[in-house]
Amino acid sequence: MLQNSYLKEVFQDTVARNSDQTEFLQAVLEVFESLEPYIARHPELQANAIMERLVEPERMLTFRVTWEDDNGKIHVNRGYRCQFNSAIGPYKGGLRFHPSVNASIIKFLGFEQIFKNSLTGLPLGGAKGGSNFDPKGKSDGEVMRFCQSFMTELQRHIGSNCDVPAGDIGVGGREIGYLFGQYKRLCNRFTGVLTGKGLVFGGSLARTEATGYGLLYFTEEMLRCLRQDSVAGKTIVVSGSGNVAIYAVEKATQLGGKVVAMSDSQGYIWDEDGIKLNVVKQIKEVERGRIREYAKRVPGSRFVDGCRGIWRIPCQIALPCATQNELDLESARMLVKNGVIAVAEGANMPSTAEAVAFFQANNILFAPAKAANAGGVATSGLEMSQNSMRSSWEFDEVDDKLRHIMVNIFHQADDAAKECGHPGDLVMGANVAGFKKVSTAMLSEGLF
Ligand code: NDP
Repeated sequence: MLQNSYLKEVFQDTVARNSDQTEFLQAVLEVFESLEPYIARHPELQANAIMERLVEPERMLTFRVTWEDDNGKIHVNRGYRCQFNSAIGPYKGGLRFHPSVNASIIKFLGFEQIFKNSLTGLPLGGAKGGSNFDPKGKSDGEVMRFCQSFMTELQRHIGSNCDVPAGDIGVGGREIGYLFGQYKRLCNRFTGVLTGKGLVFGGSLARTEATGYGLLYFTEEMLRCLRQDSVAGKTIVVSGSGNVAIYAVEKATQLGGKVVAMSDSQGYIWDEDGIKLNVVKQIKEVERGRIREYAKRVPGSRFVDGCRGIWRIPCQIALPCATQNELDLESARMLVKNGVIAVAEGANMPSTAEAVAFFQANNILFAPAKAANAGGVATSGLEMSQNSMRSSWEFDEVDDKLRHIMVNIFHQADDAAKECGHPGDLVMGANVAGFKKVSTAMLSEGLF
């Protein structure tokens, strides 16, 4: 519950104006609750209506996306781009293609992105976009035609110094390739207007791995500094089996952890001997298949219907890497009962507010998404630098920079939590550290 009268009033007004946007309101409330001590010490923020301005996107675009399937049938989807805040740099944030996409989800993701991008230390504003289009079960031709139609409208609003989208759920290398091709065709410009590009047309080495690897670099530093411990020897559960999950498993294994479970939206696999990542990559990255296939191919493993049950598996580290609100209070209770010591969010807002409060009340190390999964956008920022310089860096160089950024994000959050008198509260620390830079820039730039 908010105590600060200014924050309370702005939140009530935000609710009144966005009453059906539950995910967006959930994200705003979490940030506001964390900022209470900071806002109380900075009256200039109220005097300049910073919070009122922060919760209203600078621009919210919705548009029609018309495309034709392989049978000649015409479909219409809705496209979105939320250009939330450009105080510290050009708009930056991914595109999500998933049937659940709506204005609330795009706005929650865009809002989170503002603080995440600030934490990276790079000059990146916050944005998000996408569509309720479902790439699952579509042919390459159908996905290409959808992407071309989507970009035909989006190209008017983006640019390498204005707004630089990237991937997210349902948008990987294939989709970015089609989107980039259409942008280039329409604008006649070869620029770094998208990140996550293929390596032969301006992509960065280590971008594919970045969010998952970054999550583990953050987790390792958190364990080292707050528990004098490490990932080595731990049993780990990772939800999801997409881009973030796969590379989280890869790095966790390299650091000496044993990942025993992964999932997709239909269910989870449990392999007590440790997940064979090459089998998962073959199923998910090559065949675009379902995770249940794993149990047919790996003796001793099993598939269980329903993805939420994954949190019943005993583990010491839990890494939710699928989607928002996938880990609720009941799951949090089960994890704590089974001895979890650390939870680090690879997905955006995967834990409900009740689950986060339960972890914190039980002294579990908790790494919030906007800090722990910032490695993806940080490496996108590095891709932008390479594109501007017309140059490309080796894998190890990008990976080193990524590790450095993640360690730095942990310390920014940890230091800010201590300054606020809440040592170890990385939710508060990440929100305050991300917000400080953005609000300072907004105050300096005059009314907008
Ligand atoms: P992918 O599309 O590559 O993978 C998503 C995974 O999550 C799939 O296994 C998918 O299963 C599962 N999933 C999606 N929706 C649901 C749902 N409603 N219930 C259960 N499982 C679901 O996406 P990413 O790995 O890129 O993204 C995963 C999360 O990480 C998202 O929250 C995203 O916002 C966040 N993120 C991603 C970054 C990136 O660089 N890609 C950067 C920072 C955050 P299925 O195939 O069955 O749908």
